[in-house]
Amino acid sequence: MTTSAELIEMSERRSAHNYHPLPVVIHEAHGAWVTDVEGKRYLDCLSGYSSLNFGHGHPKIIEAARNQLDNLTLTSRAFYHDQFAQFCAGLGDLTGKDLVLPMNTGAEAVETAIKVARKWGYEVKGVEPDQANIIVMEGNFHGRTTTIVSFSTDPEAHDNFGPYTPGFRLVPYGSTEAIRRAVDPNTVAVLVEPIQGEAGVLVPPDGYLSEIRELCSAQGILMIADEVQSGLGRTGQTFACDYEGVVPDIYVLGKALGGGVVPVSAIAANRDVLGIIQPGQHGSTFGGNPLACAVGIAVIELLNTGEFQARAAKLGEVLHARLRELIGKGVVEVRGRGLWAGVDIDPELATGREVSKALMARSVLAKDTHGSTIRLAPPIVVSEEDLVWAVNQLADALYELDTA
Ligand SMILES: *Cc1c(COP(=O)(O)O)cnc(C)c1O
Repeated sequence: MTTSAELIEMSERRSAHNYHPLPVVIHEAHGAWVTDVEGKRYLDCLSGYSSLNFGHGHPKIIEAARNQLDNLTLTSRAFYHDQFAQFCAGLGDLTGKDLVLPMNTGAEAVETAIKVARKWGYEVKGVEPDQANIIVMEGNFHGRTTTIVSFSTDPEAHDNFGPYTPGFRLVPYGSTEAIRRAVDPNTVAVLVEPIQGEAGVLVPPDGYLSEIRELCSAQGILMIADEVQSGLGRTGQTFACDYEGVVPDIYVLGKALGGGVVPVSAIAANRDVLGIIQPGQHGSTFGGNPLACAVGIAVIELLNTGEFQARAAKLGEVLHARLRELIGKGVVEVRGRGLWAGVDIDPELATGREVSKALMARSVLAKDTHGSTIRLAPPIVVSEEDLVWAVNQLADALYELDTA
């Protein structure tokens, strides 16, 4: 058998170093637990950056995928196929929107929203040709395409990938006053993560999303909510915008929409916005393919039960209560909503990576982001007992680092 160490060495030798993975080689996974090639088990507290909200190998999702594999996997959008209508109707109903435009990855869905907002700006709002601007937030993460990294404030994501796409205005996250000042007659959209995931699970001040909603409605600007990571149950609601009763003009969805099986992303919007896209103006060979739609339908059916949202809310309370007890014991701050937490470790004690490695030694897989922050986002199917156990591992790891 090839060992983990050998597989890591071989992986590093022949792959670009665009990631810095923890030294674990996963072989199989079920529910909230993964097993490495040596047979050691770990509780997954990352969930593929919230792509695995329903756990690894959820029986309903796998069944849908299996059935579809036997029938039809790809047609391209040159033809209709028998899974497409139900996927679009299901996602339209879940979002409360008229129309859905399926893509594959989150970044593609964000790009789709940007294109739609610009075209809407020129054709509906009457913005001057080529002058559309979109207001975006400092600390944003919307993916890795050249246009998207053009307005990233993370030097690693941004630097040396120019020339950059113009048409974006950066403002501090959490300030509606800053948005108000940045708006001009050519502003077509405000693009916002309802909770900034990659930035460290930053929850904006209460009222932020509803103020953006009001401002956008009053000024004739589209509100685009990037719910790729925050959406589909993670926060204890279907969408993080639900916490403020806010309905954006465009939902951007991805990650968990693919059920942990295939990449599935989409935007959802009403006809007055998304109706401006005509044949030939946007698309994707794989977007809305039969396998993706079958998996997406299964995901939507799980969400329609409401069980996952309720479970994330309930377990989220357990998670956050237990994490807050660690403040002053190696933890500086805890943020988040539902089953999603950003935990700032005392930088004097350890980096996020060191804590992630200490957790790994204790059979918990988590990932750091930006310096001394780790994020915890176990699959929503995690048991309460396992969840409490995982936070106890964090407490013990921090204690050990402190006394080492
Ligand atoms: C992950 C993520 C994306 C990009 O998704 P990919 O599938 O990696 O392209 C976009 N927006 C947010 C908020 C994300 O978390």
